[in-house]
Amino acid sequence: MLITNATLVTWGSDNRLLPNHALKIEGDRIADLGPEAELRAKYPGTETLDARGQLVMPGNICAHTHFYGAFARGMAIPGDPPKDFPEILERLWWKLDKALTLDDVRYSALVCLIDAVKHGTTTLVDHHASPNAINGSLDVIAEAVEQAGLRACLCYEVTDRDGPEKAKAGIEENIRFIKSAIRNPQSAIAGTFGLHASLTLSDKTLEECRAAYDGGFHIHVAEHEADEYDSLKKSGVRVVDRLEKFGILGPRTIAAHCVHIDYREAERLRATAAWVTHQPRSNMNNAVGAADVDGLLRAGVNVCLGNDGFSNAMWEEWKAAYLLHKVAHRDPRRAGGYTIAEMAVTNNAALANVFFPQAPLGILAPGAFADLIFVDYHPTTPLTAGNLPWHILFGFESSMVTTTLCGGRALMKDRQLLFLDEVEITAKSRELARKVWEQI
Ligand SMILES: [Zn+2]
Repeated sequence: MLITNATLVTWGSDNRLLPNHALKIEGDRIADLGPEAELRAKYPGTETLDARGQLVMPGNICAHTHFYGAFARGMAIPGDPPKDFPEILERLWWKLDKALTLDDVRYSALVCLIDAVKHGTTTLVDHHASPNAINGSLDVIAEAVEQAGLRACLCYEVTDRDGPEKAKAGIEENIRFIKSAIRNPQSAIAGTFGLHASLTLSDKTLEECRAAYDGGFHIHVAEHEADEYDSLKKSGVRVVDRLEKFGILGPRTIAAHCVHIDYREAERLRATAAWVTHQPRSNMNNAVGAADVDGLLRAGVNVCLGNDGFSNAMWEEWKAAYLLHKVAHRDPRRAGGYTIAEMAVTNNAALANVFFPQAPLGILAPGAFADLIFVDYHPTTPLTAGNLPWHILFGFESSMVTTTLCGGRALMKDRQLLFLDEVEITAKSRELARKVWEQI
């Protein structure tokens, strides 16, 4: 297929904006790109997809999300508002996840995947919990991802908060799923090992997880200071030191949030080449503070951008990150456009390639995965490769995504979903969510 009449945004180390260009797709990869006339002459008779002058760019990547959180949308927690993040966990998330059946897990995921296709997010790193439906839950999510046609890395969060049997079941679910994902290396589904957070994990369980798996882990780290105090009380050391002691850190490990880590912990994350993910909308909503993302990046830590279960419209997360650090530090120099792009584009692509090493992601180049979006954006001011991050921050809306492709396959064309029945999924989700809410 030849995508014609496009202005290409390549991203990559040397971002380029290429008007009147075309892109040749073969299978799930980009085969060629160049001026339209040149490519039309080179590939006569190839089926074309007219981009009608829109921007064509790599699909967005989300470094940390929770599909299972979809049923919390619109939920008002009865009684006084929770006073802090630990109370939010107890009164909302740990009640919601316990109520989920495998059917709920499937429809929560589908709802998020529709959102992702519509808003141009093509790779997602999910972190799942459903303590009363553990076994097989990752297969159910994987089926939903395959149905949607997107790319995702999945894991189950092991925790001691529901007792030793469920912790064991969580470990087994991760191992079983990772093994099945490894058997199918060409698939758009990958697996990693999920852990909830230091504050709900005993030494014994951490040891068992490490004994069961020697790859990377996906864990929440110091999202609230309670995680640090718990670790100091339990082990005499801070969270990152504790995780390092148990062999949890490394170049395949994701440490989500890291709002309350100190300098020493940042240094250990850098030294072990672990990935930190930043979720500003969630951090603001939970009132947990602002991670020092400028400082972490300056220290050489790989910081990525996730959404923690907020909408899969990643430019909303760009905007939140851009604004949060300015107000938190009362300094308009914080978290500039290039810093946000470094997290959301460069680092997210590098993280995605840890789980999908078969071809580059997050870049338009021959050989890269053809994960693409068309953006119907017609700037009223000059747009260049250099000022693109500020156009995204101040001009782009997620509703401007009109067409989404993943692995060379169109999932949405001119805002029409091709594989997901939004009406059916919405109706079924509303019915299931009502039952979950009644239980809570
Ligand atoms: Zn999270």
